[in-house]
Amino acid sequence: YPRLPAPPAPRVFVVANQKGGVGKTTTSVNIAAALAQGGLSVLVIDLDPQGNASTALGVDHHAGTPGTYEVLIHGHSIADHVVTSPESPGLQVLPATVDLAGAEIELVSVVARENRLLRAIKRYLKEAAVDYVFLDCPPSLGLLTLNALVAAGEILIPIQCEYYALEGVSQLMNTIGLVKGELNDDLKVSTVLLTMFDARTRLAAQVVDEVRAHFTEETLRNVIPRSVRISEAPSYGQTVLTYHPDSAGAVSYREAATEIAHRGAKEQA
Ligand code: ADP
Ligand code: MG
Repeated sequence: YPRLPAPPAPRVFVVANQKGGVGKTTTSVNIAAALAQGGLSVLVIDLDPQGNASTALGVDHHAGTPGTYEVLIHGHSIADHVVTSPESPGLQVLPATVDLAGAEIELVSVVARENRLLRAIKRYLKEAAVDYVFLDCPPSLGLLTLNALVAAGEILIPIQCEYYALEGVSQLMNTIGLVKGELNDDLKVSTVLLTMFDARTRLAAQVVDEVRAHFTEETLRNVIPRSVRISEAPSYGQTVLTYHPDSAGAVSYREAATEIAHRGAKEQA
């Protein structure tokens, strides 16, 4: 695949949408893998105790595997626990295990509880050459997601082409507003990606129009289709890019990643 341009400074994305099942994890892993396969250096931090991103990237995350939990709660460095994904030598993963479920509560009594991830990432960026970081969040809006919103510079919102798509997003925008004001002035919604598009329904086309009207600059031109290949890939511990590289889903994720890379190279140049 053609090489993608590197951003002038590392870009840290939180992939967020308060609704569950909208394609956050699928988007995190496929965009990250596509950028890495394009020659860039990428880190995925799995912040969901379910560890779906770790699974999809072919990385072990049985209970007790060191990863995000140790970084957030014990202050370990990210570099000590990252694992290279079989997807690409340029793709590092900080795995999440079920232990992370307890972190939500344990964090409450930890010093600087909203800044733990930010500090760990800053330290890692000094130690390693990284172009992109993707933070895959759990569906809830607890301290794990808050840590991600504080640590990120950009928000990537995947929006499912279904009824009430924008409703969950307006809740998210309120949350982002609060975080911006109190904890992270630099946070901005830079990227919106339409997912699970079904060309056969008029509803999907309407949602696309609505989202483009609302997020004119942010919405990527490329839309991710609903595709069985995309949903099957994680059960093989792969992204769709590796599972079925020529499928429509793989092509669309590669194109979305290419758009993100070109925008980042241009915007900050
Ligand atoms: P979230 O992380 O927001 O909860 P996921 O990425 O886990 O959402 O996606 C929810 C479900 O939808 C998963 O089973 C996933 O495989 C499936 N899925 C995601 N994107 C697509 C797509 N474009 N086409 C078909 N299924 C998809
Ligand atoms: Mg998920």
